[in-house]
Amino acid sequence: MNYRVAVRALCEFTAGTGDLDHRFTPSPSAREGIAGHQLVAARRGESYESEISLSGDYQPDESVILTVGGRADGYDSAANRLEEIKTHRGDLARMSDNQRALHWAQVRVYGALLCRARELEGVTLALVYLDIASQRESVLTEWSTRAELEAFFEDQCERFLIWAAQEAVHRRARDAALEKLVFPYTTFRSGQRELAEAVYKAASTQRCLLMQAPTGIGKTLGTLFPQLAAMPRHNLDRLFYLTAKTTGRGLALSALEHLDAKPLRVLELVARDKACEHPDKACHGESCPLARGFYDRLPEARRQAVAQGGRLDQAALRHIALAHDICPYYLGQELARWCDVVVGDVNHYFDLNAMLFGLTLTQQWRVGVLVDEAHNLVERGRRMYSAQLDQAAFKRLRRQAPEALGKTFRRIDRQWNALNKAEHPKGSTTYRELEAIPAKLLSALHKAIAEITEYLADEPAGLDSALSQTYFDLLHFCRVAELFDKQFLCDLSFRCGRRGGTISALALRNVVPATLLAPRFAVSHTSVLFSATLSPSRYYADLLGLPERTPWLEVEAPFVADQLEVRIAADVSTRFRHRQASLDPIGELMAQQFRAQPGNYLAFFSSFDYLEQVLERFHESHPSIPVWRQERRMSEPARQDFLARFEARGQGIGFAVLGGVFGEGIDLPGERLIGAFIATLGLPQINPVNEGFKQRLGAIFGDGYAYTYLYPGLQKVVQAAGRVIRTREDRGVVHLIDDRFNRPEVRELLPDWWQTSTVRSFPLLSLQ
Ligand code: SF4
Repeated sequence: MNYRVAVRALCEFTAGTGDLDHRFTPSPSAREGIAGHQLVAARRGESYESEISLSGDYQPDESVILTVGGRADGYDSAANRLEEIKTHRGDLARMSDNQRALHWAQVRVYGALLCRARELEGVTLALVYLDIASQRESVLTEWSTRAELEAFFEDQCERFLIWAAQEAVHRRARDAALEKLVFPYTTFRSGQRELAEAVYKAASTQRCLLMQAPTGIGKTLGTLFPQLAAMPRHNLDRLFYLTAKTTGRGLALSALEHLDAKPLRVLELVARDKACEHPDKACHGESCPLARGFYDRLPEARRQAVAQGGRLDQAALRHIALAHDICPYYLGQELARWCDVVVGDVNHYFDLNAMLFGLTLTQQWRVGVLVDEAHNLVERGRRMYSAQLDQAAFKRLRRQAPEALGKTFRRIDRQWNALNKAEHPKGSTTYRELEAIPAKLLSALHKAIAEITEYLADEPAGLDSALSQTYFDLLHFCRVAELFDKQFLCDLSFRCGRRGGTISALALRNVVPATLLAPRFAVSHTSVLFSATLSPSRYYADLLGLPERTPWLEVEAPFVADQLEVRIAADVSTRFRHRQASLDPIGELMAQQFRAQPGNYLAFFSSFDYLEQVLERFHESHPSIPVWRQERRMSEPARQDFLARFEARGQGIGFAVLGGVFGEGIDLPGERLIGAFIATLGLPQINPVNEGFKQRLGAIFGDGYAYTYLYPGLQKVVQAAGRVIRTREDRGVVHLIDDRFNRPEVRELLPDWWQTSTVRSFPLLSLQ
């Protein structure tokens, strides 16, 4: 058996003991970490080597080889000193014992490998802690002989080997099962084979793929099946199935169960607030009982989880975690290292601190990535890489923060007021786009991070919730500020403060997430992005950062034009200035359609305000037609109640907002939904921010209006209309209510298989 493991992974596995401790000591960003390593190296002499590749085998008998490798941070041959450099913020005394033990384990393993490679009889090991704020080094050293280090190395390997042997057996069994994997149905659905073949080809050729495939052809199974089949043939370590909506996760887990690929281990990752058992506590042993002794009990829980295998969804993880008195959320994070398929949110791979991306890099995995409903990644990507700070929060803290931080917040307020004065001299505007991030304010924000971190060192009780929220926001803002370039906007939005005077919010808005998403695609062996709405392909290719020459595939819809009447109400305008005039015609059209063909309908509007206006007028004029509506900030049970009204053979109209929770990802086949009214083009509101996006996107890609307004709007329209036809048996009608739907550039964005007709003055409409 041959097994490879990185030094860090080996030590994380063997050195963990004691409590989980996620007391908030913010780690430096990747950029700060790199700069810190460079700074330390620059301070060393000529005999200092950086980033030394080291590797060595442990072979207890002829049948087993464990290869351990990695890069040691630095070695000074003149001093015979091996260094492991760690950048940090705040007081080193607050570092947990198990973190310190992990650092020692790492440098000792590197020491053993170095002694072997350079035939040394011993070496001084040094842990160099560099404080990012003060740039001061704290150094811990120990002298170790080669024999001591070798014994330590062998002990670590021995402890890991039992696990590694079991993992190697699992990998062989998994790959053997996947080689024989069969599609769980006798035939593919129309279009599903084409889709599956394209996904398999992408994995075989180590490429990305952008794929538009209609609803109803079984995209989830059609992408999972070929990716799993490709895993053994292309030596893939892991498969990540990522969604932007929770409903997509459930579908993926069911499809994986259907595929019956035992002993495949499938893990569901959920957000911390969904898995936490003690939301009123903090994640460290002094506060939460499930953090106390976490690492002592983790090995047993881990063993049980992998032995059980199969589907480790939220419920299964909770069951195992609680049986071992450990936190389910952090058990899930640990198991991400040992599961073959991880089903999670797009954040888990794409955001700034994405765990799955981090593991892919540190473990050097070959991964396949499937991104479901990938059209959402444009907006989600922008949100992940954007940040905003509101001056009001800092003004409050200036008055309420602990005395030791008073100066910090007064300094920020001073800089902010000066900025307002410079950018908003006569109170003439509510919005101003800035060329660059204001340097003096940014410097005050950086100082604040350093000072709050210092303060935390003396305050074991931590920060109150307002201060800790601001601290998080500051850290995120400064991290995004490091990325700021032409793909971002920086702006100030002004308003009148409660005590008079001007206050503002400072935002860094990511406009083009492509450059930040691109490294994630580059690291994957293959990535497939799929959705029913990815047109036009150049828009998504430009904004998502897929590698050049990424193929685009459009799978033909299995539906025929006869299944769906698409009617354009060309004498109604839903423009803001025509809203009042549109209320009666829209209500009349809906009532006519309902009377001609009673059944369940969805009606979509651009905003809650518009929805309410139409609903009120409709109810007055047609009180006998049952209606129900989407509420603002609807709870999960309320959403389920809304959908439960769509019974087969039911009757009525559900009012919803386009682009909201009922505009995509819901499945109401057959008579549960026979038609939709879409009274908007879905165009984002015209406001200074969107106009800034238009200008920037125009400068980069040439068509700012389409990239900002038209494409995102029509994508939502097509998604919403897609709720009506879910299977080849479904029949229905969609009313596109606005004269602009007749424009050539708009019609071009509607699905090819739709046959539209233009209706004026609402003749009686009927279904076949
Ligand atoms: S149960 Fe909640 S508070 Fe406790 S460690 Fe887990 S996530 Fe943290």
